Amino acid sequence: MADLKALCMKCRDDNNKPTMQVMNNPTVQEKNNRYSAKGTCANCEGNMFKFLSKDDAEKLK
Ligand SMILES: [Zn+2]
Repeated sequence: MADLKALCMKCRDDNNKPTMQVMNNPTVQEKNNRYSAKGTCANCEGNMFKFLSKDDAEKLK
C-alpha cells in the first residue's frame, strides 16, 4: 500500500501551521460518492481525516 499523507492538526510547524504526515492504518469510507480516509498520524498518533479522490480510494482498497 502506498503511503497516505494528510494534514495533521497536531503536528504544527514553526509558523503554527498543520503539516503533512503519514497516515497509519487508513480506513477508506464512501459516503454519497465522496471518499475519505480515517487513520492515525505516524508522528503523534493523533486522529487524522482526509478526503480522497475516487482513484486514491481505489488504490487503498
Ligand atoms: Zn501528528
